[in-house]
Amino acid sequence: MATSTVENYLKALLRQEEETGSTTVGEIAKELAVTPGTVTTMMKHLEEENLVVYQPRKSLSLTLEGRAAALKVVRRHRLIELFLVQIMELDWSEVHEEAEILEHVISDRLLDRIDRMLGEPTHDPHGDPIPDRDGNLVQFEATPLDEAEGGKYRIVRVSDDDSDLLGWLNQNGLTIGEEFALAHPDRAAGLLEISRSTGAKVQLGIQAAGQVFVEAVSA
Ligand SMILES: [Zn+2]
Repeated sequence: MATSTVENYLKALLRQEEETGSTTVGEIAKELAVTPGTVTTMMKHLEEENLVVYQPRKSLSLTLEGRAAALKVVRRHRLIELFLVQIMELDWSEVHEEAEILEHVISDRLLDRIDRMLGEPTHDPHGDPIPDRDGNLVQFEATPLDEAEGGKYRIVRVSDDDSDLLGWLNQNGLTIGEEFALAHPDRAAGLLEISRSTGAKVQLGIQAAGQVFVEAVSA
């Protein structure tokens, strides 16, 4: 079984490949807050393990085996988050940090049990898709709110690692599935105003809005 450090590298590689289609030593170093030299050493190790293909200064990517291993960690992370919210009744702002730890230690047997207990769920509490047991990950298109034009929207996903923002969103009723209207946004002001279905108006900074992903609701 891979160490937790290796698993965190695999997760970072997967996330960047999913988000931008590629990754580099520099980007991994930035994401994991380590030096590029540390990443290079790890990539050589992962190449020996047949988890990445690494050509210094040229290319870096997960092998099929590396991708499968990364998807397993992501599956554990997201199922644990959902378990902590639904069964343990933790707030969605508190579960990411716990899942970051538990994802490296939980057994397959316990994870299977959690999966069945939750009814083989497809999404975690933040709207991220849960890879299935065969490692299939369904991606969906969602627009970051800071790039949305005026219109009606539904929240489908929020970034899971900023617990202050998650707490604030919760307080303001901005959770997964919530619908709202966005008036023509004035990006120069750095602030968006949305109207909730309750009529309440909520103002969001552009940066916070970039962590909230929406899909259009047809009128
Ligand atoms: Zn998380």
